Amino acid sequence: MEPARTIARLGFRKWYERRLIEAHAWLVTALLCAIYVEAALEGMSPSQDALTWLGAAGGIFFGVLIVWHGLRRYFAILVEAERFSGQSTCSRCKAYAVFEVVNEYARFTVRCRKCQSEWSMG
Ligand SMILES: [Zn+2]
Repeated sequence: MEPARTIARLGFRKWYERRLIEAHAWLVTALLCAIYVEAALEGMSPSQDALTWLGAAGGIFFGVLIVWHGLRRYFAILVEAERFSGQSTCSRCKAYAVFEVVNEYARFTVRCRKCQSEWSMG
């Protein structure tokens, strides 16, 4: 239901653009956290006191979690955006992303603005 509502409000092209921006923001976040984890790993040494070592280990743990989550979000958003993009061409007149959302169910119906042909997306 969520993509249908947002696509209806923004239009498909803007929705697609925003999804790609969000996906790449997650990718940049993941890369920055990977750099942090790498730097923190290099900074750790056995001669550190236990509290400093524990703090660095905790930072590394959360950094790795953010990298993992960021990469998952990046690929999930890209897959979703590409799935909807593949369904955005009117089969009758071949117009790309020129449709309006008719209903907002999980598998929603859209209508071509050029030829009024309807198909479902989801
Ligand atoms: Zn059409």
